[in-house]
Amino acid sequence: MTPPLINLYGLTRAELGALVAGWELSPVHAARLWKYLYLEGASEFAAMDELPVRLRSRLEAETSLGHLVISRETHSSDGFTRKYLLGLSDEHRIETVLMRYTGRTTACISSQVGCAMGCVFCATGQMGYTRHLTAGEIVAQAVHVDRVLRHTAEDNPALAEAEHSSPHHRHERLRNIVLMGMGEPLHNYDAVMKAVDILCDGAGMGLSAKKITLSTVGVVPGIHRMTDERRQVRLAVSLHGATQAARAALVPAARAWPLDALMEACRRYTVTLDRRIFFEWTLIEGKNDGPDEAHAVGALLKGMQAQVNLIPLNPTSGYTGLPSHTVAAKRFQEILAGYGLPSTVRQRRGIDIGAGCGQLAVAESA
Ligand code: SF4
Repeated sequence: MTPPLINLYGLTRAELGALVAGWELSPVHAARLWKYLYLEGASEFAAMDELPVRLRSRLEAETSLGHLVISRETHSSDGFTRKYLLGLSDEHRIETVLMRYTGRTTACISSQVGCAMGCVFCATGQMGYTRHLTAGEIVAQAVHVDRVLRHTAEDNPALAEAEHSSPHHRHERLRNIVLMGMGEPLHNYDAVMKAVDILCDGAGMGLSAKKITLSTVGVVPGIHRMTDERRQVRLAVSLHGATQAARAALVPAARAWPLDALMEACRRYTVTLDRRIFFEWTLIEGKNDGPDEAHAVGALLKGMQAQVNLIPLNPTSGYTGLPSHTVAAKRFQEILAGYGLPSTVRQRRGIDIGAGCGQLAVAESA
């Protein structure tokens, strides 16, 4: 049986070097290949004309560029958000979102096909879990978005030239990633962290780990592991309920990892790493947006290095709740401020194309 092709985007620079060395080729060629992958956005081996023919033949025969095929591309009406339905090498598809607002370009990428966590208001949770993504499939989403930016620059070179003068980077580079797409990243810890390491490699994409946000529903062992490994990525924890019962009604994973254990893991993280946690709170009208809930959140997080991100519920077909009104969100913020807790209300973007938080899902008919 022919061995499966090696996805080059799933290899760290050291692993790529070892692969090329194993073919008895110079490390210089491995370094050039890495640049083709991450600095030049090469999308085919034929374009890598500075590599020796022998290396290109081995690459073509034994590896793949892990392409994600665009099944569908949708643009939001305000022009700030683009959603991509991307085909994997098997029959499965995932969603990746490119957001460009407040002067920042951010990719929202997926870590799994579907999700096992089953949060009641989330379209991905409603579709169930299919499989983990590999590190290569996670990296490939970031590369895809970077290529989109590169092509945008090619379409408008004057703008790119004016804004980005580095010789390697004549286009707007991807600088921010949120792992808030489909899936629970800490349920796929090894692949996610390997992808982060690849994306942060200074000789490649060179992203700062501090500009990568990992959003978890509260997988306690994963938070402890991040603390032990002193991971530099930003951590966002979805809270949604301030008591065990209220939280478990919205987030079934709370039954496996109760609120007490979650808070203990979060406190240990903030103290050990001296770093803030972002707590996500989906505001659902009449359900968790009242003063009592705000005081409960304040009491729960008081004294912790924390920021609360309030996200008015985005509509999904499988959940009937409504988003909170601006007045309720503002009142919630004021109460949190009384406990010394900074907070934001997330702007609702990309809702019209189903690219908002909790809306990502691959429709049956897609
Ligand atoms: S909110 Fe996140 S963890 Fe919960 S079901 Fe959706 S994708 Fe999974």
